Amino acid sequence: MSEDNTTTGTLTNDGLPPLREVIATHDLSAQKKFGQNFLFDLNLTGRIARAAAPLEDATVIEIGPGPGGLTRALLFNGAKNLTVIERDPRCQPVLEQISNHYPGALHVIDGDALDVDVTTLGPAPRKIVANLPYNVGTQLLINWLMQIDQFASLTLMFQKEVAERVVASPKSKAYGRLSVLCQYLCDCDILFDVHRSAFTPPPKVTSAVVQLRPKADRGAEINLTSLAKITQAAFGQRRKMLRASLKTLNINVGELLSKAAITETSRAEELSVADFVRLTQVYDEMAAS
Ligand code: SAM
Repeated sequence: MSEDNTTTGTLTNDGLPPLREVIATHDLSAQKKFGQNFLFDLNLTGRIARAAAPLEDATVIEIGPGPGGLTRALLFNGAKNLTVIERDPRCQPVLEQISNHYPGALHVIDGDALDVDVTTLGPAPRKIVANLPYNVGTQLLINWLMQIDQFASLTLMFQKEVAERVVASPKSKAYGRLSVLCQYLCDCDILFDVHRSAFTPPPKVTSAVVQLRPKADRGAEINLTSLAKITQAAFGQRRKMLRASLKTLNINVGELLSKAAITETSRAEELSVADFVRLTQVYDEMAAS
């Protein structure tokens, strides 16, 4: 099969029309309210799809397929059971055309990904792959983290700043609530950066593809809701010492910190993920007594 990886060519690797032609035919001008920045580069969409491989035996879930660049790459790279969730109804005819081209492999949900329990879309192993809409990307990630054992991997395009928060180390500016939640639950890697010029229209900042794979062994099993609550309190006022920032937990903070062997004057960004895990264990013990 011939392969054309330019954004302007007329040949494609999958026999479907080039994306720019699709956009023009269906008048799919990108709309800001949907967080739309489309990828037309087949090299890039292929690279993202291959990063999530193998796809053949997985339930693959894509959020926000838009005109279907990444969708097509996932199908071309072997996905046999792919469900996409798209909020912009203008994309439906295009997605239907792709679905007809790959009979039985693509299922399209017309709706808001925030309302869909993606664990019901097919059996494990489940893999989420997405160039996420910027306005809801972090919220979606947090929702998935809360049920991370349901997934084999998340391969996600974010603004680079968000990707850096996912992998950040203590004492760095990017280290925060998202870093602790992600790193407690998953092995996390930034796979590669994507320059803004790869998108149409180009966003203001560089993006990056990040991959999260649930840890086989997290060490201690803790209450995620408590971890989320503690990290929210701690990083919500990240410049304050913990003895002050944790007051919103309505618990004896002195006792909490002392039992967790954490200095009262330390700040959230100085604590390791293991420190937050210990803090959560003690918090739950105190709350239960
Ligand atoms: N996957 C396409 C690509 O890579 O070219 C489009 C990515 S674009 C950054 C984000 C897509 O998510 C858009 O198509 C947008 O309409 C869709 N979207 C935005 N909010 C959504 C939501 N809450 N649920 C489902 N899709 C959403």
